[in-house]
Amino acid sequence: MPRKPPTRSSPAITTAEDTERTFVVRIAHDLSEYVDVAVVATDRGAAEQIVADLLHDSKLDNLKYELGDSQDGPHTCDSWEMDEADQVACTIKNGTPVFPQPPDALLCPHCGYDGTTATEHGGTFRYLSDQTIWREVVDASGSGDDRKILIDGKAEQYDEDEERNERLECRNCLKEFPIPTGLETDFN
Ligand SMILES: [Zn+2]
Repeated sequence: MPRKPPTRSSPAITTAEDTERTFVVRIAHDLSEYVDVAVVATDRGAAEQIVADLLHDSKLDNLKYELGDSQDGPHTCDSWEMDEADQVACTIKNGTPVFPQPPDALLCPHCGYDGTTATEHGGTFRYLSDQTIWREVVDASGSGDDRKILIDGKAEQYDEDEERNERLECRNCLKEFPIPTGLETDFN
């Protein structure tokens, strides 16, 4: 998933008139696996607390990140107010996570696009999946604050690593959704 740079806005000041807004809370697992969820809450702190409580109660075990060897459980690591471009794995409202359901037909659940007409992004859909890539570390040098590693620019796919988190991207609204139920995938 596209990584959003961490935002550091000042903590929201809560007042009695505060209405609920939607925040994105990022959950980290190990050092490199992240998943973002949307939370309807009054402020970022409340949103993070809701996610922390759900993680503690094992109510977010359906989230699809790769489980690594770390003994640390998943934990919240960042949050920001949601905007249209944010892609999230689920939406938590009134403390209850709601996972997106796969549509019955090949139709974007966000905008209703069916792939038949051209769009400014070329049209139809893209099949997305996550897979680890690797690059050779060429050299490690320096000491103290001046350490760096030199990495080969060319990336390779880890063929042993299974593709995961398969989904479709709508080329009309660029949002992602699960593979429709009952639809077999075939590759040529
Ligand atoms: Zn769409």
